[in-house]
Amino acid sequence: MGDWITFPNGKKARRAWDSEPRRVPAWQALLRASHDVVPRPFCNCRHQGRNLELVVRRSTRKEQGRPVEAYHLARMPNQGGLHYVDCPFHQSDPRHSGQSGYATGVVRETPDGHVRVALRRGLAVRDTARTPSTIERDLQKERASKKEGRPRQSRMTELGLLHLLWERSGTNAWHPAIGHVRTWWPGVRQRVLNAAVDIIVGKGNPLAEHLAMIGYGDADGPALLRDKVQTCGNNWRILLLGKVDSLGTITSQKSGGGAARQYTALRFDGAKDYHLYVTADDSWFSRLSRRFPRSVEALQKERSERQISVIGLVTATIKIRREAGKVSIWAWADDIALMEVDPTTLIPVESSYELRVTQALCGENRAFTKPLRFDATGDVVHPDFILTDTQDVRGTPMEVYGRDDEAYLARKAVKDAYYNATFGLDKWWSWDVQSSPDRWPDFPPAVIRPQPGGDHD
Ligand SMILES: [Zn+2]
Repeated sequence: MGDWITFPNGKKARRAWDSEPRRVPAWQALLRASHDVVPRPFCNCRHQGRNLELVVRRSTRKEQGRPVEAYHLARMPNQGGLHYVDCPFHQSDPRHSGQSGYATGVVRETPDGHVRVALRRGLAVRDTARTPSTIERDLQKERASKKEGRPRQSRMTELGLLHLLWERSGTNAWHPAIGHVRTWWPGVRQRVLNAAVDIIVGKGNPLAEHLAMIGYGDADGPALLRDKVQTCGNNWRILLLGKVDSLGTITSQKSGGGAARQYTALRFDGAKDYHLYVTADDSWFSRLSRRFPRSVEALQKERSERQISVIGLVTATIKIRREAGKVSIWAWADDIALMEVDPTTLIPVESSYELRVTQALCGENRAFTKPLRFDATGDVVHPDFILTDTQDVRGTPMEVYGRDDEAYLARKAVKDAYYNATFGLDKWWSWDVQSSPDRWPDFPPAVIRPQPGGDHD
């Protein structure tokens, strides 16, 4: 696959090794030797006859309770579009995802290769979310200033941020060599945190300073959470990201006979080891049921009966409680976003049909990405999936058409015309679920692209 990196000393290694426990030391040693050194490492992509160089960044991570220096690779500024579609440093054209639904400046790549985002809710505790009326006023201004009249989001919500983290960490992409790494939470945690180092929020804070990842079987996770809790203190909100294990309503009876109060309670997978309790106002359960009906429905089922997993991003203020020698962390959620994913690959899916396509593609050992919706409304034209192992170096778009009402068919016609004009007749794939609910057309064939030599296993 396209994740081989060539180092200045001539060695070749795969970026995926950073998620394989036995390979991590060798991979980190290669990065350490290349940090702040020219020439730089490069991937397989070439532009105008030259290799596309990559930059090595340094950050601190925690292993076995101790802080250690760690390194990761990032692309050079403004080169996302130059990397080939099957390269992990490729950035899909924002016009091909819901990112196109943002107003100018909401997501901005800076000259040093970071990405700066304008969040709807600041992370300082004194910041309150901008009220819907101010957002609406901005939208109206934006609409008045633009001829095409399409409303654009002037701020990013928690859902948009979750999609950005998934996209920048490459977790919305799949190729067969990834194997089972996505079910190993510490690997997922490290990739998402690396992406968060490069995302700047507010007045210049890296998102990674506020983000704690909660997951099952992560020996270092609880210590990392405690560090973040300390950094955020009373003045900053914390962002908690993990697989959601349960969501429901609880009633708490105040000791001393006070009135009972209802709360929404969310539990992350593995939260027990973190002594972490997430609650929110009781209205959140119905809000989430309306906004993310498929996630909430899945979470009401027994674990073994869920077809999808749900990833949650919670923005919260934190309180630490010490009772009878035990320390527990109580998070009071200000906002919650949920995202449905395929349980083994963590690829986001927006319907049961998309889940079937994802699983069929994996079964056929295909490579693909899932363009994400961010905060866009329904009228953005972006494909449901993009195959990245076909003849077309731009990737081959895939559409799952799930409905046949009039408005939907009108949008389908726009999309069909766009794909025919851009990619050519029969040069993209679609499945019309209404006319053929149980069978989808064969996927466009894969081509094998040459890979440099290396230590395959
Ligand atoms: Zn590349």
